[in-house]
Formats: sequence, C-alpha cells, structure tokens
Amino acid sequence: MAAKKKKQTPMMAQYHAIRNSLPKDTLLLFRLGDFYEMFFDDAKNGSRVLNIALTNRGTTPMCGIPFHAAAGYLSKVLKAGFKVALCEQVEEAVPGKLVKREVTQVLTPGTHFDDRMLVAERNNFLASVQPIKDTYGIALIDLTTGDFKTTEVEGESGLLNELERIRPAEIIYPGENLDLMKVLQGARTILSGYDDWTFDSDTAFYTLKDHFKVASLDGFGLKDRDAASGAAGAAVHYLANQLRRDLSHLRSISYYECSEFMALDAISLRNLEILEPLHRDAPKTACLLGAMDRTRTPMGARRLRDWLTQPLSSTAIIRQRQTIVRTWVQRGDLLEGFRENLGEIRDLERTIGRLSIGSGNARDLVSLKRALEQIPGLREGLDDLSAAAEDTSDSLQLNDERADDGVDPLGLIKELGTHLKEIPEVVELVSKSIMAEPPTTVKEGGLIADGYNADLDELRSASRDGKSWIARMQQEEIEKTGIPSLKVRYNAVFGYFIEVTKTHLDKVPDHYIRKQTIANGERYITDELKKMEGKILGAQERIEKLEYELFLKVREGVIEYLTEIQEIARCIAQLDVLGSFSETARLHDYTCPSVGEEGVLDIRDGRHPVLDQSMIEERFVPNDTELSIASSQIALITGPNMAGKSTYIRQVALLALLAHTGSFIPAAEARIDLLDRIFTRIGASDDLSRGQSTFMVEMNETANILNNATVNSLVILDEIGRGTSTFDGLSLAWSIVEHIHQQLGAKTLFATHYHELSELSGRLPRVANYSVAVKEWNDEIIFLRKIIQGSADKSYGIQVARLAGVPKQVIERSKEILINLEEAELTPEGKPRQSKRQQSDRDKLKDLAPSPQMDLFSM
Ligand code: ADP
Ligand code: MG
Repeated sequence: MAAKKKKQTPMMAQYHAIRNSLPKDTLLLFRLGDFYEMFFDDAKNGSRVLNIALTNRGTTPMCGIPFHAAAGYLSKVLKAGFKVALCEQVEEAVPGKLVKREVTQVLTPGTHFDDRMLVAERNNFLASVQPIKDTYGIALIDLTTGDFKTTEVEGESGLLNELERIRPAEIIYPGENLDLMKVLQGARTILSGYDDWTFDSDTAFYTLKDHFKVASLDGFGLKDRDAASGAAGAAVHYLANQLRRDLSHLRSISYYECSEFMALDAISLRNLEILEPLHRDAPKTACLLGAMDRTRTPMGARRLRDWLTQPLSSTAIIRQRQTIVRTWVQRGDLLEGFRENLGEIRDLERTIGRLSIGSGNARDLVSLKRALEQIPGLREGLDDLSAAAEDTSDSLQLNDERADDGVDPLGLIKELGTHLKEIPEVVELVSKSIMAEPPTTVKEGGLIADGYNADLDELRSASRDGKSWIARMQQEEIEKTGIPSLKVRYNAVFGYFIEVTKTHLDKVPDHYIRKQTIANGERYITDELKKMEGKILGAQERIEKLEYELFLKVREGVIEYLTEIQEIARCIAQLDVLGSFSETARLHDYTCPSVGEEGVLDIRDGRHPVLDQSMIEERFVPNDTELSIASSQIALITGPNMAGKSTYIRQVALLALLAHTGSFIPAAEARIDLLDRIFTRIGASDDLSRGQSTFMVEMNETANILNNATVNSLVILDEIGRGTSTFDGLSLAWSIVEHIHQQLGAKTLFATHYHELSELSGRLPRVANYSVAVKEWNDEIIFLRKIIQGSADKSYGIQVARLAGVPKQVIERSKEILINLEEAELTPEGKPRQSKRQQSDRDKLKDLAPSPQMDLFSM
C-alpha cells in the first residue's frame, strides 16, 4: 500500500509548508493563476461559509474563488469569524518551474480594509488588552484611519464598559491567560489569543520605540503605563509580524484617561439607547445618535459617536464647545456656509489611510485634493466664527461671573484655528499631475494630466499621431483600391488589420497579406500597417508604465504630508460635530444648559430628544425636573402604565448626558451640574444568552449601582423589584431608596408601580413624590403626560387594558370583579377608596422603624 501512495507534487509540498506556518483558525487562500484555491479543511470550511461547490482533486477536497472577485468572498469569510491568509505568486510564472509563493498579508475582522464591510460612520478597531494585577491596559488601532490610542482601566467591569463603548471588531489578548479570555467573552466580539511575550512591557517598549523611531515613550504619555504600553506594543507586533501589515500611517499614539470623561457603563449605554435602539426592529435612527447626527462627513459621524459615549467631566471644555455652538446658533448664516464647505469633503482619514499603505488610487488623490481645497473656505468660516464668538463672549462674561474661572472660552476655537492649515503644495501637486476624473485602475494609463511630464506628452502625441495616421491610411486605401467599405480595424488578437467585404475581394491588391476569413469577408495586414502598429502599441505600453511611475511619485509626495493631513482630519471631525450640534439646536429649538459644580439638576420644559423629533401626530409634552443634593435628591414617580414614567426618567438622563458633551439640549432652560456617572436600571433586559433570570440581572445591575454611585452620580431606576413577588419587590425597593438617601446621596429618579413607596417621602426629607397626570373622562382615561407633584393612588389598569384592545367582555367582567373586591373594603364614609389590603399594608409601613442607617447628607 505504501508504495502505491503517490509522491507529493512540489506544489503541494509548498502548500503544506505554508499551511503549517499558519495558525489553525486561519483560512489559507492559495493563489493558482486566476484563482485563490483552498484545500483540505480550509476547503470544507470555505465552501460552507461561501456556499460554493466543494470538489476533489484526487482525494484532496478543494474549492476556489476567482481572484478578480475575491473581495466580496473575503468579506463573507471575515464576517464568519475566520482569518484569511492571502498567499500570492511573488514571481512571474515560467512553464515547468514551481512559482515562488508567499503569504503577503493576513486579514482579520479587526484589520481588513474592505469598503463594503466598513461602515463610514464607525471606526473599525482592533483592541488589545494587557492586564497587570487589576489594571487593564487597552490599546485601540483603526488601520483604516490611522487612529491609535490607549488607556488603562481598573477592574473587569471597567474593562468591559470601555470595550462596550468602543465595540472593537476584534480583540487580542495574551493567549495563555484563560481567565482573561473568559472575561473578554463578555465583550461579544472576535477574540484572538496572541503570543504572551509580545505583551511583556520590555518587549512592548521595544516594539513601540522601533515602530515610532523614538528613544522614549514618555512623549506619548506612556511613562509608567506598563499595561497600556504592553497592550499597544502587542497590537503593533500582531499587525506587523503576524498579519504582515503596513503600519507606516500609524504616526503617533495617544493616551486618554477615562476619568477625563463621565463614566457610562455598558448597561446604561444600551438602556438609554445612545448608539442604537434596544429593540431590533425599531428604526436604526431611533436612538440618541440618530436624533443628533447631522454631521456632513464620515469623520464627523465617527467623532459624534465618540462624544456621545464619552461625555466630558470638565466644565472648562464643555463651555469651550458651548461657545462655538452658541455662536453658530446665533449666526445661522455662518453655520450654513461652513456646513456647505464640509459637504464637499469625503472620508479624509480613510483616503489618506489607503494612500499611505499603497492601496490608494488616483481617485483617492483627487478626493484628497478636493477636501484640501475646502480649507481656505473653512478657515474663513472659522475666523468669522471666532470674531462673532469674541463679541458674544465679551457680553456674556459681564453677566455670568462663573465664566470667570481662568479658562478661555475661546480656547477650542483658537486651537482648531492653529491646526486647520492649508497645504497648497499638495493641492497644486495633485491638480497639476492627475486628471480631473481618473480611472480606478493605476496601471492602465489615463490618469496623469497632460502637460505634467514632457516624456509622457511626447509618447502621447506619438500615439495620437499613429492613430490619425491609421485614419488617414484607411482613406488613402479606399481611394487606391476603389473599395468604399474598406476598414482599418483593431482587435487584441491581430492588432491592426484591414477588413474587406466579400463583394470587393477581387479588388484587393497583391501586397495585402490574408490573415483571417470571416463570415462576410476577409482580414488582411500589410507591412506598412504592422510597422505603424508596433509604434502605436509600443508607445501605449510605455505610456502606461510611465504613468504608473509618475503616479507612485505623486502619491509619495502627498504622503510626506501625512501627519498634517491627519491633523486636519481631526479638526474637521470636531468642527463637523459642533456644526451638527448647532444645526440640531437650531432646527429643534434647543437651549444652552449652564454647567456648574454644585450638584444642581434643574430643567424647565425638557423634552425627550428622540421622541421630540419622531412624534408627528401628537406633540411631545415637555416636563420640568428639579433635583439637588440638598433638598430634592430622590424623585419617586408613580402613575398608571403607559403614562410616560419611563420616558420621563430616560429623558432626564439623556439631557444630562447631552449637556456633558457640550451640546445644547431640548429644553426651555436648564442648569445641569457635573455628574461623575449616570447609572440606569431599566426594564426587563433579559439576558437569556447568558442564562440569567430577569430578577438576577435586575439585582446585579442594582448591586452595581449601590456599590458605585456617589453623591455626584445620577441614578435612573425603573420598576425595581418587578421580577419577584410583590412583597419581596416592595421591600427591596423600599430599602434601596433608604440606602440611596442615607448613604449615597446620588440624585435619583425612581419610577415605580408600588404606590406604597410614596410613604417614604414622609419619612425621608429628600424624597419627593411625583406622578404623571391623567384625566378621567366618563369611563376612560386620558394621558396628559405631565409630571405633577404628589403621588398617584390609582392604577387605572382596566382602562389601560381597554386602550390596549383587550376584548370588551373581558373588560366588563374585570370591572365586576374589581367592584366586588373593593366593596368589601369601603371606607367608614362608604367610599371605595384604597383596598383594605393596601390600606393595612400602608399602615404597617407607617409603623416600620426608621432606617438604621445614618443620614449622611442631612444639613
Ligand atoms: P410608562 O413607563 O409610564 O408605562 P412610557 O414612558 O413607556 O410609560 O410611555 C408610554 C408612551 O407614552 C410612550 O411610548 C410615548 O409614546 C408616550 N409618551 C410618554 N411621554 C410622553 C410625553 N411627555 N409626551 C408625549 N407622549 C409621551
Ligand atoms: Mg415604564
């Protein structure tokens, strides 16, 4: 049998050598002529994921995809979670000789470049995580934009919160660390274990210093940041060595501190519907991002995402952003002009990214030029803005003494002004050298402008002359031979030839050489024609080669300005978001919240940012909010189902968040002082995928709040205790409110259907009762959506059921039952008020001993 076993062909030996050098989860695409082929297990996986036929070569399973259509297939494979190694032929194929092949790059979900898979409004981050004790270093790289940043966070929850905010496409971690892997599974993205030693601080420092060509990392803010540096170094190592990627456009790395931002945990991010709606079938824009996004460029859209998930924790920067928004809101003429200019700008970050790694084409150069051409206009707009802001801020300073805190409200405008620089050199270079509408290909000519290069012009004129010579020749031959239908034509097989139809064959001169018979005639060549053809085609070939060389030079020339262009893109991104804030504020009548540090949260006529825009038939009813540490710390909101409780408390959280981004907010007037965190515990976010019951999830989230909220936090609680029996739930809700009041001092909005909780306001000085007003009319209720003082004492369950379309018989019957239940419980005056059970429950609660916890916040 062994003798029968065929010897491996040299090509298969080459295949196996390459296959064995790759990790198992990587699909090897092996270039064979015009196809990428997969063999063995790769073929089985590939055919399944791509839904293409699996064939056999002998006993070897194989399947393949055409090279020219590879991109579409690749994105499918990446989406399915595979990595893809592209193995190319790296020399010209010569018959009878094994062609040399090498893996040229490895693509992974976090590191691909395919426009069809990239969402313009989102970054495509590769994240890298390195733990040192309880500190986690996180590094983030977006190869498409050149973004490279890093941070350190404390604890598992800090890690998961930051990852939830970023939503990386892929995370790498030290592969031997199985505990970390388990934690990271909570991030629900693709995990790639990588060599542990690359995360070691010594190795990582070396990798980074080598990449950035610097002697020390202190200048990047990485001094004594071993976890962050470790993560960053490993990420660079992974991309450069494992995936063989070009990283020349990663020009710098920045360190950010999460404490510079208001903390928003992963749960709140989801519950408050910041980036996307909770319900999958809701329209994508039914979220805060959707309501706020009026950006004009993809850079701006990505930055807005960032700002909404990283609200600021410094009044100084908030006020600097507000200065810009305020000025643009007042000067709509300036805003409009500025946004018009922005509209001309494409994805500058990704364009320059493509150009710098060598995949960008002439169209990228043209779109880069077009973007840079907008800068003089944008600069002018910025100068006008600056002048207008100076006027308004002068008058504001007189009125508002709080603005006098040593911070220049014009700081941000000035900073943007210094970085938004023109680069006339690049504009001129591209204008001179590249055609106005070049093709996507770079090796087939037609992209370099006339007049840029003398040699090229000469070749072109030779080629043009040749073509007119051909046209002239046709005319002359017609006259000489007397064949009116004679044509000189061209095809790829014969080059130029003369075509004569059957009827005139007798007139063909002797020196014509017959080449081919076709249905209605013959094709000929002549010596003279072939000589000219040589000249024309030779010129064409030389033109294409020269154009490509010139293109590469131009591209290099542009890349010299990479750092400056990246800086410009960053400025444009920020200005675009601020312009978007201003536009939204103008369109929807927002107000500028004042921000201080005294713990006040005071909103007059606030509106829910999303519903405010999406409600068309009904007007959204504005509501007030007044919370403060000193007097009304906790607002208990009761009211029937569907009254608007949940909407109201989310609205307050959203407005508080927006105020921290520097945006205006939908309200008539507002004062929103700095918050350190917003916590939410909302609805039944059942996490069945992780096998936890509703109640367990609810209590987990509650525990997190009770353990971490501070006097500067805002806490939103919706229907705590719903997941368990009434008495359990009520008891827990009661003691949770007591704890927040006595120990935490966090400003809190608590929507509840437990009317009994309203007793708390009599026992705890800083608890206030509110309810949502409803009007009874005949047997029906009308929701007024207005938050009023005092608690509700009826639940209107039956009326709500009727509104919801429960059949009439059921409604009538339930009314009978209710009356029977209530009759037994008439008050001494004979009025059916609260049920007896409810009444006695309340009496018992009144007798309850006060909370044993000391009130830390009483004045
Ligand atoms: P609850 O939590 O009290 O059961 P919701 O907050 O879920 O009620 O609100 C129910 C519906 O009422 C919302 O879907 C919304 O359409 C409408 N609604 C809520 N608040 C308002 C408001 N202030 N103005 C207009 N409609 C509102
Ligand atoms: Mg609700």
